[in-house]
Amino acid sequence: MDNYGLRGATALLASVVTTLAVQFHRAKRNSDFAIVEAMPKVELHVHLDGALCNEALFSALGDGDLADRLPTAVTLGWDAANPLNVKAELEKCKTLGDFNCLCRCKGERSLNAMLRCFEIFTPIVRGNMQLLEENAFKFAENQSKQNVVYTEVRYSPHFLASTSSKTKTGVLNGAAKEVVAAVTRGLIRGCQEFDIVINQILCCINWRPEWADETVDLAYEFSKGGGECCVVGVDVAAGEEHFDEVNFPQLHGPHLKAISRAKRLGLNVTLHAGEDTGPENIFKAVDVYKATRVGHGYRAADDEGVLKNMAQRRIHFEVCPTSSFETGGWQGNEGEWHAHPLINMLKSGLSVSINSDDPTVFATSLTDEICIANVGMRVTVEKILAIMVGSMEASFATQETKVKVIENVLKRFRVADH
Ligand SMILES: [Zn+2]
Repeated sequence: MDNYGLRGATALLASVVTTLAVQFHRAKRNSDFAIVEAMPKVELHVHLDGALCNEALFSALGDGDLADRLPTAVTLGWDAANPLNVKAELEKCKTLGDFNCLCRCKGERSLNAMLRCFEIFTPIVRGNMQLLEENAFKFAENQSKQNVVYTEVRYSPHFLASTSSKTKTGVLNGAAKEVVAAVTRGLIRGCQEFDIVINQILCCINWRPEWADETVDLAYEFSKGGGECCVVGVDVAAGEEHFDEVNFPQLHGPHLKAISRAKRLGLNVTLHAGEDTGPENIFKAVDVYKATRVGHGYRAADDEGVLKNMAQRRIHFEVCPTSSFETGGWQGNEGEWHAHPLINMLKSGLSVSINSDDPTVFATSLTDEICIANVGMRVTVEKILAIMVGSMEASFATQETKVKVIENVLKRFRVADH
């Protein structure tokens, strides 16, 4: 993108924000939800496996040989003494309602309770390329319905790959590549049909250091050329023990090595950090792993010095309100949204985005999350629009894609205005 293009993009951006602010003021007579729903949105932190379509998964439960492939006992990385009997849990589900209850994390306020949900429903899609592709398409459809014009969706290809392909070293022998290919096909089809842009972030999994290198290889392979729905960055999800080089050197070493290689290959890095741990992990993410964005990072808001430091260094924070409540990352109560860390982050001038994280698991949507910010936290519509622009700036999209998205917003908005 040349200078003229960049200047053009900035002018467009200013125009979009001004015009949208007028429109949404005019629409004040509608419900808060309607205003937020109509707003063009950007989402940077959403897990594909946390956004699967429960209807599609529940109906797949009836597929002939699936029952034979479901694991009877899954060892949980954080609770090895109590394996989870996935097959028995799923067999108890007689209705979609039962299934929804089993796959939802509501009211437990624990990160591990949330991670447990994933262990229950991911075996249904694991290794099923057709179902994964269909879910990627449905994900794009759902983003479009909410007017999400740009999304970065993340997942671990290994976590969704067929376990039968596992070798002695735990690497999945090409099966993880099939996952990325299937998701990419579904996303491309969805983006073309609904005229939105979605890029991908591939996640390493905290407890599975043996997957880290191959995740980076795949991220690099699917980033090349910067084509449609390409991979734009990497992450480490599902816990933060890998930051602890003293107590968990077996997690720290391989992840740091893999993420450092990703950086050298030109991939962007965002890391889950400071979700339910102290600010030291935020510093490790930024200083040691060289992440430019932090997933969650609520603990930064406890300390003004940390906020200032991060704002000066232009580190972007991906905030997920409902997720922070349900995982216990934020300890406040539901009626206390006005005391949420997002408020201090905004006051300190930190670049933030608002995200749904795992909408199916938390029974939420990006629209719901922005409503929480608007109504519960009293963040004004104008400020939310500014957050959307800031999110686009902090995205890992190329300048060319950013311009394309901004032009699309302008086009969509003008259509809505007539
Ligand atoms: Zn997350």
